[in-house]
Amino acid sequence: MKDSKKLGINSICVHVGEVKDEQFKGAVSPIYVSTSYAFDQVDIKRYPRYFNTPNQEALRRKIAALEHTEDALIFGSGMAAISTAMLAFLKKGDHVLIQHVIYGGTYNFIANEFEKYGIEYSYTESDQIEDFEPLIRDNTKIIYIETPSNPLLGITDIKAVALLAKKRGIITMIDNTFASPINQNPAYFGIDIVVHSATKYMGGHSDISAGAVAASKEHIELIWKTGINLGGNLSDFTVWMLERSLKTLNLRVKEQTKNAQILAEYLEEHSMINRVYYPGLKSHPQHTIAATQMHGFGAMMSFELSEGFDAMDFQNALLLIKPSMSLAGLESTVVSPSLTTHSLLTEEERLERGINDRLIRFSVGIEESEDLIADFEQAINKLK
Ligand SMILES: *Cc1c(COP(=O)(O)O)cnc(C)c1O
Repeated sequence: MKDSKKLGINSICVHVGEVKDEQFKGAVSPIYVSTSYAFDQVDIKRYPRYFNTPNQEALRRKIAALEHTEDALIFGSGMAAISTAMLAFLKKGDHVLIQHVIYGGTYNFIANEFEKYGIEYSYTESDQIEDFEPLIRDNTKIIYIETPSNPLLGITDIKAVALLAKKRGIITMIDNTFASPINQNPAYFGIDIVVHSATKYMGGHSDISAGAVAASKEHIELIWKTGINLGGNLSDFTVWMLERSLKTLNLRVKEQTKNAQILAEYLEEHSMINRVYYPGLKSHPQHTIAATQMHGFGAMMSFELSEGFDAMDFQNALLLIKPSMSLAGLESTVVSPSLTTHSLLTEEERLERGINDRLIRFSVGIEESEDLIADFEQAINKLK
């Protein structure tokens, strides 16, 4: 096969890292479920928890090709990927600098686990680059960012963060889940470690839990050493499901992204919607940064209903679009952050972060945009 660097994105999605069916020449990768492999050379010990079964090795190549890194690892969940990647580089007395708004599970991991191991951390006040530098300490080991961020789609300048860290020998890590490898490749901008919840766009059908880390061979080797101790590997059945899902990653995410732009423009014009947060809108404060670092603006957005609307009533009035905590599936979903993902914060803390009770997070699916618009119209008319 051609060098994966020269292949188009759909060819990478379909072909890179296939397990060849030498025996029957089937069209798809066979699944190897063995947990025990006889070795003819003692140095290749295949074992699921070593991330090196035939299916895992193949999928690792596909994910590395998608993120334009040398190597990758696949985990049982996004949190297994994130926690393993962080712990691989940290020891007692190290400090981690974290962007102010990150995924709730990552926030909980840091809040509940770091102190036990004597790891220090601090959060920036905003996603603006000026707020990072003053918080860097002599013992800062990792700078951790997430862009676009949840739920207000804040954009962090990836290249600026990478430069800031590189000068000081600090490792940079990004949660690239919201953009997916189709809309953003942080390795291009010098980010060291790219993490994904593959439960979201990479899986894309709301039916598997998985995570991924993409990085240089050297960094993956280190993460692997911690990974085999923590044991967060994915079962080979799910590895196979994820490989199948990734074949349509570009088709799905392109369509979802196209829909999102149409829906964002529609919602921004609507008299019953106060505000739309979507990096593809000119009104987004970091639209220009987003345009330089993203291939497309993604399919996640949030919008604020005008006063008098109740978020719960609104969600229940929708017929096609379902209220759901998760995101990035083929089907469009909405969620009220103040009632769900951010319900543990006080109202004051929420308002500080710009999350009011009428905010709705919207994960745009592949349904026709006219059908999604019609669903919003009927829901708003029902409540007006
Ligand atoms: C869902 C999600 C995670 C966690 O992934 P799991 O697969 O649920 O462990 C991490 N980051 C972001 C941005 C997410 O949306």
